[in-house]
Amino acid sequence: MARTLRTLLTDDLLERVHERAATHDRENTFPHDDLDDLRAAGYLTAFVPEQLGGAGLTLEEVAREQVRLAAAAPATALAVNMHLVVTGLAALLAGHGDDSVGFVLRDAAAGEVFAFGNSEAGNDLVMFGSRTRAERQPDGGYRFHGTKIFTSLGPVWTRLATFGLDEDHPDGPRLVHGVVGREGVTTKDDWDTLGMRATQSATTVLDGAYAPADQVYRALPPGPSADPFIFALFAVFETLLAAVYTGVGRRAVELAVAAAHRRTSFKHDGRPYAHDPDIRWKVAEAALAQDGAELQVFALARDVDERADHGSRWFAQLVGLKVRATETARVVVDLALRVGGGGGYFTGNELNRLYRDVLAGIYHPSDDESAHGTVATSVLGPLPD
Ligand SMILES: Cc1cc2nc3c(=O)[nH]c(=O)nc-3n(C[C@H](O)[C@H](O)[C@H](O)COP(=O)(O)OP(=O)(O)OC[C@H]3O[C@@H](n4cnc5c(N)ncnc54)[C@H](O)[C@@H]3O)c2cc1C
Repeated sequence: MARTLRTLLTDDLLERVHERAATHDRENTFPHDDLDDLRAAGYLTAFVPEQLGGAGLTLEEVAREQVRLAAAAPATALAVNMHLVVTGLAALLAGHGDDSVGFVLRDAAAGEVFAFGNSEAGNDLVMFGSRTRAERQPDGGYRFHGTKIFTSLGPVWTRLATFGLDEDHPDGPRLVHGVVGREGVTTKDDWDTLGMRATQSATTVLDGAYAPADQVYRALPPGPSADPFIFALFAVFETLLAAVYTGVGRRAVELAVAAAHRRTSFKHDGRPYAHDPDIRWKVAEAALAQDGAELQVFALARDVDERADHGSRWFAQLVGLKVRATETARVVVDLALRVGGGGGYFTGNELNRLYRDVLAGIYHPSDDESAHGTVATSVLGPLPD
Protein backbone atom coordinates (compact mmCIF):
# COMPACT_ATOMS: atom_id res chain seq x y z
CA MET A 1 0.00 0.00 0.00
CA ALA A 2 1.33 3.48 -0.87
CA ARG A 3 2.49 5.48 2.13
CA THR A 4 0.75 8.80 2.74
CA LEU A 5 3.25 11.61 3.08
CA ARG A 6 1.91 14.63 4.92
CA THR A 7 2.58 18.19 3.73
CA LEU A 8 2.14 21.62 5.27
CA LEU A 9 3.27 23.92 2.46
CA THR A 10 0.60 24.77 -0.08
CA ASP A 11 1.40 25.68 -3.67
CA ASP A 12 0.00 29.17 -2.97
CA LEU A 13 2.41 29.70 -0.09
CA LEU A 14 5.34 28.49 -2.20
CA GLU A 15 4.33 30.84 -5.01
CA ARG A 16 4.29 33.82 -2.64
CA VAL A 17 7.66 32.90 -1.17
CA HIS A 18 9.06 32.45 -4.67
CA GLU A 19 7.83 35.85 -5.80
CA ARG A 20 9.61 37.59 -2.91
CA ALA A 21 12.94 35.77 -3.22
CA ALA A 22 14.48 38.05 -5.84
CA THR A 23 13.73 41.18 -3.80
CA HIS A 24 15.20 39.81 -0.58
CA ASP A 25 18.31 38.74 -2.48
CA ARG A 26 18.70 42.12 -4.19
CA GLU A 27 18.01 44.16 -1.06
CA ASN A 28 19.91 41.78 1.27
CA THR A 29 16.95 41.60 3.65
CA PHE A 30 15.50 38.93 5.88
CA PRO A 31 12.18 37.54 4.54
CA HIS A 32 9.96 38.36 7.52
CA ASP A 33 6.91 37.90 5.30
CA ASP A 34 8.01 34.36 4.40
CA LEU A 35 8.53 33.50 8.05
CA ASP A 36 5.04 34.78 8.86
CA ASP A 37 3.55 32.59 6.13
CA LEU A 38 5.55 29.56 7.29
CA ARG A 39 4.51 30.10 10.89
CA ALA A 40 0.85 30.43 9.87
CA ALA A 41 1.16 27.14 7.95
CA GLY A 42 2.39 25.41 11.10
CA TYR A 43 5.82 24.85 9.53
CA LEU A 44 7.77 26.02 12.58
CA THR A 45 6.15 23.20 14.54
CA ALA A 46 6.55 20.63 11.76
CA PHE A 47 8.65 18.37 14.01
CA VAL A 48 6.75 19.09 17.22
CA PRO A 49 4.72 16.02 18.23
CA GLU A 50 0.96 16.22 17.73
CA GLN A 51 0.30 15.86 21.48
CA LEU A 52 2.19 19.17 21.94
CA GLY A 53 0.18 20.85 19.20
CA GLY A 54 2.62 20.35 16.32
CA ALA A 55 2.36 18.46 13.05
CA GLY A 56 4.61 15.59 14.15
CA LEU A 57 6.12 15.15 10.70
CA THR A 58 8.85 12.59 10.06
CA LEU A 59 12.32 13.53 8.83
CA GLU A 60 11.43 12.25 5.37
CA GLU A 61 8.29 14.39 5.26
CA VAL A 62 10.18 17.51 6.35
CA ALA A 63 13.02 16.75 3.90
CA ARG A 64 10.45 16.59 1.10
CA GLU A 65 8.97 19.91 2.22
CA GLN A 66 12.43 21.49 2.40
CA VAL A 67 13.14 20.45 -1.19
CA ARG A 68 9.91 22.18 -2.28
CA LEU A 69 10.61 25.28 -0.20
CA ALA A 70 14.20 25.55 -1.46
CA ALA A 71 13.01 25.23 -5.05
CA ALA A 72 10.83 28.27 -4.36
CA ALA A 73 13.33 30.31 -2.30
CA PRO A 74 16.68 28.75 -1.40
CA ALA A 75 17.68 31.27 1.26
CA THR A 76 14.32 31.12 3.04
CA ALA A 77 14.61 27.34 3.12
CA LEU A 78 18.19 27.44 4.42
CA ALA A 79 17.30 29.94 7.13
CA VAL A 80 14.30 28.00 8.44
CA ASN A 81 16.40 24.84 8.10
CA MET A 82 18.32 25.87 11.22
CA HIS A 83 15.11 26.02 13.30
CA LEU A 84 14.10 22.68 11.82
CA VAL A 85 17.48 21.15 12.69
CA VAL A 86 17.20 22.12 16.36
CA THR A 87 13.57 21.01 16.68
CA GLY A 88 14.18 17.94 14.51
CA LEU A 89 17.02 16.62 16.61
CA ALA A 90 14.90 17.19 19.72
CA ALA A 91 12.07 15.21 18.12
CA LEU A 92 14.43 12.41 17.12
CA LEU A 93 15.80 12.13 20.65
CA ALA A 94 12.31 12.36 22.17
CA GLY A 95 11.17 9.61 19.81
CA HIS A 96 13.92 7.44 21.28
CA GLY A 97 12.68 8.16 24.81
CA ASP A 98 15.28 10.87 25.58
CA ASP A 99 13.50 13.99 26.87
CA SER A 100 16.69 15.99 27.58
CA VAL A 101 15.77 18.44 24.81
CA GLY A 102 12.01 18.08 25.21
CA PHE A 103 11.93 21.74 26.30
CA VAL A 104 12.92 22.69 22.74
CA LEU A 105 9.74 21.07 21.42
CA ARG A 106 7.59 22.68 24.09
CA ASP A 107 9.16 26.10 23.42
CA ALA A 108 8.76 25.70 19.65
CA ALA A 109 5.09 24.84 20.28
CA ALA A 110 4.85 28.10 22.23
CA GLY A 111 6.18 30.05 19.24
CA GLU A 112 9.92 30.34 19.91
CA VAL A 113 12.23 30.50 16.87
CA PHE A 114 15.43 28.51 17.26
CA ALA A 115 18.74 29.38 15.64
CA PHE A 116 21.77 27.13 15.43
CA GLY A 117 24.75 29.06 16.84
CA ASN A 118 27.61 26.63 16.60
CA SER A 119 30.08 27.64 13.87
CA GLU A 120 33.20 29.54 14.91
CA ALA A 121 35.93 31.19 12.87
CA GLY A 122 38.90 28.93 12.36
CA ASN A 123 37.29 25.98 14.18
CA ASP A 124 37.77 23.02 11.87
CA LEU A 125 36.90 20.65 14.71
CA VAL A 126 33.35 22.02 14.26
CA MET A 127 31.24 20.22 16.90
CA PHE A 128 34.19 18.44 18.50
CA GLY A 129 36.01 21.50 19.88
CA SER A 130 35.17 25.11 20.69
CA ARG A 131 36.78 28.52 21.10
CA THR A 132 33.76 29.67 23.11
CA ARG A 133 34.08 29.65 26.89
CA ALA A 134 31.29 27.98 28.85
CA GLU A 135 31.25 29.20 32.44
CA ARG A 136 29.34 27.16 35.00
CA GLN A 137 27.06 29.23 37.30
CA PRO A 138 26.25 28.46 40.94
CA ASP A 139 22.67 27.60 39.91
CA GLY A 140 23.88 24.92 37.47
CA GLY A 141 23.23 27.10 34.43
CA TYR A 142 25.96 28.27 32.04
CA ARG A 143 27.12 31.59 30.64
CA PHE A 144 28.76 31.55 27.20
CA HIS A 145 31.51 33.91 26.04
CA GLY A 146 32.67 33.81 22.43
CA THR A 147 31.83 34.57 18.82
CA LYS A 148 29.72 32.40 16.57
CA ILE A 149 29.74 33.01 12.84
CA PHE A 150 27.10 32.55 10.16
CA THR A 151 24.09 32.46 12.51
CA SER A 152 21.19 32.17 10.09
CA LEU A 153 17.87 33.77 11.16
CA GLY A 154 20.03 36.52 12.75
CA PRO A 155 17.32 39.19 13.02
CA VAL A 156 14.48 36.94 14.20
CA TRP A 157 15.60 34.09 16.40
CA THR A 158 14.40 34.05 20.00
CA ARG A 159 16.35 30.98 21.17
CA LEU A 160 19.91 30.02 20.26
CA ALA A 161 21.20 26.46 20.54
CA THR A 162 24.92 26.89 21.17
CA PHE A 163 27.92 25.31 22.84
CA GLY A 164 31.27 26.12 24.40
CA LEU A 165 34.15 24.59 26.35
CA ASP A 166 34.09 24.34 30.15
CA GLU A 167 37.75 23.70 31.01
CA ASP A 168 37.03 23.64 34.75
CA HIS A 169 34.33 20.98 34.67
CA PRO A 170 34.77 18.58 37.63
CA ASP A 171 34.95 15.61 35.23
CA GLY A 172 37.59 17.27 33.02
CA PRO A 173 37.11 19.57 30.02
CA ARG A 174 33.59 19.37 28.65
CA LEU A 175 31.81 20.75 25.60
CA VAL A 176 28.64 22.16 27.08
CA HIS A 177 25.53 22.46 24.92
CA GLY A 178 22.63 24.68 25.91
CA VAL A 179 19.98 27.09 24.71
CA VAL A 180 20.30 30.82 25.42
CA GLY A 181 18.01 33.78 24.85
CA ARG A 182 18.87 37.20 23.39
CA GLU A 183 20.20 38.67 26.65
CA GLY A 184 24.01 38.93 26.61
CA VAL A 185 24.02 38.50 22.82
CA THR A 186 24.90 40.97 20.08
CA THR A 187 23.93 40.22 16.51
CA LYS A 188 26.22 42.12 14.16
CA ASP A 189 24.90 43.68 10.99
CA ASP A 190 27.60 42.07 8.83
CA TRP A 191 25.86 39.71 6.40
CA ASP A 192 26.69 40.81 2.85
CA THR A 193 27.51 37.74 0.80
CA LEU A 194 27.60 36.36 -2.70
CA GLY A 195 24.49 34.23 -2.24
CA MET A 196 22.00 32.96 0.31
CA ARG A 197 21.59 36.60 1.21
CA ALA A 198 18.12 36.38 2.76
CA THR A 199 19.38 33.96 5.45
CA GLN A 200 20.95 36.97 7.22
CA SER A 201 23.46 34.62 8.84
CA ALA A 202 25.12 37.33 10.91
CA THR A 203 27.99 37.07 13.38
CA THR A 204 26.76 36.49 16.93
CA VAL A 205 28.78 37.71 19.90
CA LEU A 206 28.04 35.87 23.15
CA ASP A 207 28.95 38.03 26.10
CA GLY A 208 27.66 36.07 29.05
CA ALA A 209 24.58 34.69 27.28
CA TYR A 210 22.82 32.51 29.82
CA ALA A 211 21.42 29.00 29.54
CA PRO A 212 19.44 28.02 32.67
CA ALA A 213 20.27 24.62 34.15
CA ASP A 214 17.20 22.97 32.64
CA GLN A 215 18.28 24.15 29.17
CA VAL A 216 21.81 22.75 29.42
CA TYR A 217 21.43 19.36 27.81
CA ARG A 218 24.90 17.96 27.24
CA ALA A 219 28.43 18.15 28.69
CA LEU A 220 30.55 15.93 26.46
CA PRO A 221 34.31 15.31 26.37
CA PRO A 222 35.93 17.16 23.43
CA GLY A 223 36.25 15.02 20.32
CA PRO A 224 33.93 12.60 18.56
CA SER A 225 31.26 11.12 20.76
CA ALA A 226 28.90 8.16 20.69
CA ASP A 227 26.28 10.21 22.56
CA PRO A 228 22.87 9.90 20.84
CA PHE A 229 22.68 13.72 20.73
CA ILE A 230 25.63 13.82 18.31
CA PHE A 231 24.00 11.19 16.10
CA ALA A 232 20.67 13.05 16.15
CA LEU A 233 22.42 16.33 15.29
CA PHE A 234 24.32 14.82 12.35
CA ALA A 235 21.32 12.85 11.10
CA VAL A 236 18.96 15.81 10.99
CA PHE A 237 21.50 18.44 9.98
CA GLU A 238 23.11 16.57 7.08
CA THR A 239 19.78 15.28 5.74
CA LEU A 240 17.97 18.61 5.80
CA LEU A 241 20.97 20.49 4.43
CA ALA A 242 21.10 18.01 1.56
CA ALA A 243 17.37 18.59 1.05
CA VAL A 244 17.83 22.36 0.71
CA TYR A 245 20.50 22.11 -1.98
CA THR A 246 18.57 19.34 -3.73
CA GLY A 247 15.65 21.78 -3.92
CA VAL A 248 17.90 24.28 -5.66
CA GLY A 249 18.75 21.55 -8.18
CA ARG A 250 15.06 20.76 -8.69
CA ARG A 251 14.33 24.36 -9.60
CA ALA A 252 17.36 24.51 -11.91
CA VAL A 253 16.02 21.53 -13.88
CA GLU A 254 12.62 23.28 -14.20
CA LEU A 255 14.34 26.41 -15.50
CA ALA A 256 16.48 24.39 -17.92
CA VAL A 257 13.38 22.68 -19.31
CA ALA A 258 11.57 26.01 -19.65
CA ALA A 259 14.58 27.55 -21.41
CA ALA A 260 14.85 24.63 -23.84
CA HIS A 261 11.20 25.13 -24.82
CA ARG A 262 11.41 28.93 -24.91
CA ARG A 263 14.69 29.58 -26.75
CA THR A 264 14.43 29.10 -30.48
CA SER A 265 17.24 28.14 -32.80
CA PHE A 266 18.15 29.87 -36.05
CA LYS A 267 20.10 26.72 -36.92
CA HIS A 268 16.97 24.59 -36.52
CA ASP A 269 14.66 26.84 -38.56
CA GLY A 270 13.22 28.64 -35.59
CA ARG A 271 12.29 25.54 -33.64
CA PRO A 272 12.93 25.54 -29.89
CA TYR A 273 16.14 24.11 -28.48
CA ALA A 274 14.08 21.28 -27.01
CA HIS A 275 14.54 19.76 -30.50
CA ASP A 276 18.32 20.12 -30.46
CA PRO A 277 20.07 16.81 -29.60
CA ASP A 278 22.95 18.53 -27.76
CA ILE A 279 20.61 20.60 -25.58
CA ARG A 280 18.37 17.57 -24.99
CA TRP A 281 21.46 15.71 -23.76
CA LYS A 282 22.37 18.54 -21.36
CA VAL A 283 18.86 18.76 -19.92
CA ALA A 284 18.77 14.98 -19.60
CA GLU A 285 22.15 15.03 -17.86
CA ALA A 286 20.79 17.53 -15.33
CA ALA A 287 17.61 15.48 -14.78
CA LEU A 288 19.61 12.25 -14.45
CA ALA A 289 21.70 13.74 -11.68
CA GLN A 290 18.70 15.39 -10.03
CA ASP A 291 16.60 12.22 -9.95
CA GLY A 292 19.37 10.39 -8.07
CA ALA A 293 19.92 13.29 -5.70
CA GLU A 294 16.26 13.36 -4.68
CA LEU A 295 16.06 9.61 -4.14
CA GLN A 296 19.11 9.51 -1.88
CA VAL A 297 17.85 12.35 0.36
CA PHE A 298 14.46 10.75 0.89
CA ALA A 299 15.88 7.23 1.30
CA LEU A 300 18.38 8.21 3.99
CA ALA A 301 15.79 10.39 5.75
CA ARG A 302 13.47 7.35 5.81
CA ASP A 303 16.31 5.22 7.17
CA VAL A 304 16.69 7.68 10.04
CA ASP A 305 12.93 7.58 10.66
CA GLU A 306 12.83 3.80 10.55
CA ARG A 307 16.03 3.40 12.58
CA ALA A 308 17.68 1.39 9.83
CA ASP A 309 20.91 -0.31 10.75
CA HIS A 310 23.88 1.27 8.99
CA GLY A 311 26.02 0.24 11.94
CA SER A 312 29.43 1.88 11.96
CA ARG A 313 28.76 3.39 8.51
CA TRP A 314 26.00 5.76 9.68
CA PHE A 315 28.21 8.85 9.83
CA ALA A 316 29.82 8.03 6.47
CA GLN A 317 26.33 7.76 4.99
CA LEU A 318 25.25 11.09 6.45
CA VAL A 319 28.30 13.17 5.56
CA GLY A 320 28.41 11.46 2.16
CA LEU A 321 24.81 12.46 1.52
CA LYS A 322 25.60 16.09 2.28
CA VAL A 323 28.63 16.16 -0.01
CA ARG A 324 26.94 14.32 -2.90
CA ALA A 325 23.80 16.46 -2.64
CA THR A 326 25.57 19.82 -2.53
CA GLU A 327 28.03 18.89 -5.28
CA THR A 328 25.27 17.46 -7.50
CA ALA A 329 23.22 20.62 -7.05
CA ARG A 330 26.18 22.68 -8.28
CA VAL A 331 26.52 20.48 -11.38
CA VAL A 332 22.79 20.66 -12.09
CA VAL A 333 22.72 24.46 -11.78
CA ASP A 334 25.78 24.68 -14.02
CA LEU A 335 24.08 22.57 -16.70
CA ALA A 336 20.94 24.69 -16.44
CA LEU A 337 23.00 27.82 -17.00
CA ARG A 338 24.52 26.29 -20.12
CA VAL A 339 21.06 25.38 -21.42
CA GLY A 340 19.59 28.74 -20.49
CA GLY A 341 22.00 30.83 -22.55
CA GLY A 342 23.41 34.29 -21.91
CA GLY A 343 20.29 35.62 -20.21
CA GLY A 344 21.34 33.71 -17.11
CA TYR A 345 24.42 35.90 -16.79
CA PHE A 346 22.32 38.97 -16.10
CA THR A 347 21.76 40.21 -12.56
CA GLY A 348 18.15 39.57 -11.63
CA ASN A 349 17.92 36.33 -13.59
CA GLU A 350 16.77 33.49 -11.34
CA LEU A 351 19.47 31.11 -12.52
CA ASN A 352 22.07 33.73 -11.72
CA ARG A 353 20.76 33.74 -8.14
CA LEU A 354 20.64 29.95 -7.93
CA TYR A 355 24.26 29.83 -9.12
CA ARG A 356 25.29 32.13 -6.27
CA ASP A 357 23.08 30.37 -3.70
CA VAL A 358 24.17 26.86 -4.59
CA LEU A 359 27.83 27.70 -4.01
CA ALA A 360 27.18 28.09 -0.28
CA GLY A 361 26.78 24.32 -0.08
CA ILE A 362 30.54 23.80 -0.13
CA TYR A 363 31.03 25.71 3.13
CA HIS A 364 28.60 23.85 5.40
CA PRO A 365 29.78 21.02 7.55
CA SER A 366 30.69 18.39 6.78
CA ASP A 367 33.09 20.01 4.35
CA ASP A 368 34.82 18.00 1.67
CA GLU A 369 37.93 17.26 3.72
CA SER A 370 36.09 16.18 6.85
CA ALA A 371 33.59 14.07 4.90
CA HIS A 372 36.35 12.30 2.99
CA GLY A 373 38.14 11.64 6.29
CA THR A 374 35.01 10.07 7.77
CA VAL A 375 34.30 7.97 4.70
CA ALA A 376 37.97 6.90 4.37
CA THR A 377 37.98 5.72 7.98
CA SER A 378 34.71 3.85 7.46
CA VAL A 379 36.11 1.87 4.54
CA LEU A 380 39.88 1.78 5.22
CA GLY A 381 39.94 1.87 9.00
CA PRO A 382 41.55 4.65 11.06
CA LEU A 383 44.97 6.12 10.31
CA PRO A 384 47.64 4.82 12.70
CA ASP A 385 48.71 7.37 15.36
C1 LIG B 1 24.67 30.50 3.95
C2 LIG B 1 25.26 29.88 5.17
C3 LIG B 1 24.50 29.76 6.33
C4 LIG B 1 25.03 29.19 7.48
N1 LIG B 1 24.26 29.10 8.62
C5 LIG B 1 24.80 28.62 9.77
C6 LIG B 1 24.04 28.60 10.99
O1 LIG B 1 22.87 28.99 11.03
N2 LIG B 1 24.64 28.17 12.12
C7 LIG B 1 25.93 27.75 12.14
O2 LIG B 1 26.41 27.35 13.19
N3 LIG B 1 26.69 27.76 10.99
C8 LIG B 1 26.14 28.17 9.82
N4 LIG B 1 26.90 28.18 8.66
C9 LIG B 1 28.38 28.17 8.85
C10 LIG B 1 29.10 27.03 8.29
O3 LIG B 1 28.73 25.93 8.99
C11 LIG B 1 30.62 27.29 8.38
O4 LIG B 1 31.04 27.43 9.66
C12 LIG B 1 31.02 28.53 7.65
O5 LIG B 1 30.62 28.37 6.32
C13 LIG B 1 32.51 28.87 7.71
O6 LIG B 1 33.26 27.72 7.67
P1 LIG B 1 34.83 27.74 7.46
O7 LIG B 1 35.40 26.71 8.36
O8 LIG B 1 35.14 27.59 6.02
O9 LIG B 1 35.22 29.20 7.95
P2 LIG B 1 36.59 29.84 8.37
O10 LIG B 1 37.66 29.45 7.41
O11 LIG B 1 36.83 29.55 9.78
O12 LIG B 1 36.29 31.37 8.11
C14 LIG B 1 35.17 32.07 8.56
C15 LIG B 1 35.55 33.49 8.85
O13 LIG B 1 36.44 33.53 9.92
C16 LIG B 1 37.67 34.15 9.59
N5 LIG B 1 38.70 33.32 10.19
C17 LIG B 1 39.19 32.16 9.72
N6 LIG B 1 40.10 31.64 10.56
C18 LIG B 1 40.18 32.49 11.61
C19 LIG B 1 40.91 32.50 12.81
N7 LIG B 1 41.79 31.52 13.09
N8 LIG B 1 40.71 33.52 13.66
C20 LIG B 1 39.85 34.49 13.38
N9 LIG B 1 39.10 34.54 12.25
C21 LIG B 1 39.27 33.57 11.37
C22 LIG B 1 37.70 34.15 8.08
O14 LIG B 1 38.40 35.27 7.62
C23 LIG B 1 36.24 34.21 7.73
O15 LIG B 1 35.76 35.53 7.71
C24 LIG B 1 26.37 28.72 7.48
C25 LIG B 1 27.13 28.82 6.32
C26 LIG B 1 26.58 29.37 5.17
C27 LIG B 1 27.44 29.44 3.94
